Amino acid sequence: MEYTEIPLQAKKHIALVAHDNKKNDLLAWAHYNRGTLTHHHLYATGTTGTLLERELNLPITKLQSGPLGGDQQIGAKIAAGEINCLIFFWDPLEPHPHDPDVKALLRIAQVWNIPIATNRTSADFLISSPLMQETYQRRVPVYRPEERLDGIAPDEK
Ligand code: PGA
Repeated sequence: MEYTEIPLQAKKHIALVAHDNKKNDLLAWAHYNRGTLTHHHLYATGTTGTLLERELNLPITKLQSGPLGGDQQIGAKIAAGEINCLIFFWDPLEPHPHDPDVKALLRIAQVWNIPIATNRTSADFLISSPLMQETYQRRVPVYRPEERLDGIAPDEK
């Protein structure tokens, strides 16, 4: 696999998502880190975003609620390069109707090599990194359709 580098600018596009049992944790974390968050663009799934807007009084791009497709919308924005940081407090102790979407979001964030924090401790470490205020070269895979065709349709080239 070949890789290229995409700059992650100093001003990040951060998606914030929390499952219901983790929402209070995310709200407290965001409240504590409000000053840092004001330097970045913020996105969130529907319910998380509504709560965060109230808590922070900051503009947040709100997407659908997670079970209605919000996680998938965030994943699509990561693939499109519009979101480049993910704070996702998911709940490991409850089943969710949209578990496949949760898995897909974590997977696509991994594919695009963006910073991900999935609990409060990792979010503390992430937000306090000096790299949050700097440009960072992010390595991402280069997709070459012709390489896949090599193995799939040798007779049709
Ligand atoms: P919500 O979605 O912010 O609308 O609750 C989050 C989720 O459950 O993925």
